[in-house]
Amino acid sequence: MMGRLSGKRAVVSAAAQGIGRASAELFAREGAKVFALDIDALALAGVAGCEARVIDLLDGGAIAALAADIGQIDILFNCAGYVDAGTLLDTTDSGYDLSFDLNVKSMTRMIRAFLPAMIAGGGGSIINMASVAGPAIGVANRFAYCASKAAVAGLSRSIAVDYVADGIRCNVICPGTVQSPSLDARLAATGDEAAARKAFVARQPMGRIGSADEIAALALHLASDESAYTTGALHIIDGGWSMA
Ligand code: NAD
Repeated sequence: MMGRLSGKRAVVSAAAQGIGRASAELFAREGAKVFALDIDALALAGVAGCEARVIDLLDGGAIAALAADIGQIDILFNCAGYVDAGTLLDTTDSGYDLSFDLNVKSMTRMIRAFLPAMIAGGGGSIINMASVAGPAIGVANRFAYCASKAAVAGLSRSIAVDYVADGIRCNVICPGTVQSPSLDARLAATGDEAAARKAFVARQPMGRIGSADEIAALALHLASDESAYTTGALHIIDGGWSMA
C-alpha cells in the first residue's frame, strides 16, 4: 500500500517517547524509512517500524558522524527539547545553557550536518519543534524555555529564506500542553500532581491537554508533499491556548 511518505527517508530526534516517538512511528506507517534518534537506548528499542540510532544530541561530533553514515534524507524532524522551570531570577546558568544547547544548538548541529545531502538530493522538509511558549505567548515560570523556543522560530525562518531556492522547506511546530512522559514528570515534580494537572487543563480553552498523536499528524502533513507550498511558517497547535 502506498503511504503518504512512500519512498522518503526521514530522521526524527527525541524519538524514544512522546511526540517524537508518535511521529517516528507514524512516518514509518506512512511508508518512510525512518531513523529514530534518542539517548535512551532502552526506550528507543521499542519504537515500531524504525531504525534506532542511539545518540547524544549535545555531541556535535557524533551528529556529524551519524549524518555521514545515514546520507541523503528527505525529512528532518528536530523534536528534542528540555523544559527548564523558573523565572529569570530563578534560572541558573546551567539550566539556561542546557536549554539553549539542547533546544537550539543541537537543532543547528543537526541541520548543518544533514542539509548538504538534502540539497544535493533535490531538497526536503525540515520540521523544528518549538512551543507556543516563547514564539506565541509568554508562559509563567518558563524563562529559559520561552527564550530558547523563540530562538527556534528565528533560526527556522532564517533557514527557510536562505535555502528555499534549493528546494528546502523549514517549518516550526508550536504545541500547547501535550500529554507525554516528561509532562507527567513535570507535574509530579510540583509535589501535587493532581492540582498541577488541573491547573494545566484549566488554561486550555478546550478543557483538555493535547495528545502526541495530534502533534504527529501535523508533523506528517509538514513532512509530506501535501504541504509543498508551506515554508518559514509557525504552526500553532494548542487547543486554542494562545488565541485570546
Ligand atoms: P519528552 O520530553 O517526553 O521526551 C524527550 C526525549 O528526548 C526523550 O526520549 C529523551 O530521552 C530525549 N533526549 C533528551 N535529551 C537528549 C539528548 N541529549 N540526546 C538525545 N535525546 C535526548 O517529549 P515531549 O514532551 O513529547 O516533547 C518533545 C518536544 O516537544 C520537545 O522539544 C518539547 O519542548 C516540545 N513540546 C512539548 C510539549 C508538551 O507539553 N509535551 C509542549 C510544547 C512543545
